Amino acid sequence: MLIDTHTHVNFKAFKDDADDVVKRALDSGVWIVNAGTKFETSRSAVELAENYSDGVYAAVALHPIHLFEHRVDLDEEEASFHTDGEEFEVGSFRDLVARSTKVVAIGEFGLDYYRLPKEHDHDAIKQKQKDVMIKHIELAKEIDKPLMIHCRPAEGSMDAYQDVLKILDENYRSPNFEIHCFTGDAPTAMEFVKRGGLVALNGIITFDKTGRSDKVVKNLPLESTIFETDAPFLTPLPHRGKRNEPSYVRFVAEKLAQMKGIDISKVEEVTTANARRLFRI
Ligand SMILES: [Zn+2]
Ligand SMILES: [Zn+2]
Repeated sequence: MLIDTHTHVNFKAFKDDADDVVKRALDSGVWIVNAGTKFETSRSAVELAENYSDGVYAAVALHPIHLFEHRVDLDEEEASFHTDGEEFEVGSFRDLVARSTKVVAIGEFGLDYYRLPKEHDHDAIKQKQKDVMIKHIELAKEIDKPLMIHCRPAEGSMDAYQDVLKILDENYRSPNFEIHCFTGDAPTAMEFVKRGGLVALNGIITFDKTGRSDKVVKNLPLESTIFETDAPFLTPLPHRGKRNEPSYVRFVAEKLAQMKGIDISKVEEVTTANARRLFRI
């Protein structure tokens, strides 16, 4: 059994076949945590989870790219879109969590310095992202849920990771967190491990040619590793070019087992236990 610890079956990309996608995952022994990125997608993540007795969970939060109105031109992995900008209303999220026992984390929230809107002052945006990140941390502490952190630095930099570490040190002295879609270098990964957190790897490790994933995988203890798909984005090999989905998390686990030279059954056992411990599922 595997857990896709961060996915978006609650997104439009799955509007016609979300239940088929979930069923495919559950039938192949994959549990799912759908992450919200705005209030609306947080609510749809909760609603989706409520339709299943087991194996489908939700995380709720406001993603840093949705704090300001702007047009987002994403990677070739992703689609471009326009966001209206949303204020983080802690009361609405608190109520949403109270409505369901399926909410297992506060996420995805954090810092994104990769796609800063051109028309705004970058220092002001970064400050706002930090303030909103701290508000999420306060909510998570209040309701006793782990953090699912999004962090994307500027191209060729570790800046956002450094800032996330600083915010954690000043505001969150707990190992109950994960850093999702980790794309940093090995020393940065180990900074999160040192603080007791889990590092989530996804399809990128199946197609990364920079060598960075190799170093991260070699250094990162299995006891600190979890998997995700971040579907519909970041489709792993051998399905590049197709829409990603939770059942494909298996390709990520297999690739890691191969890179580390350990048995897939061991990888499944340890990483699934890690995720179940964090999310208490
Ligand atoms: Zn993310
Ligand atoms: Zn995501």
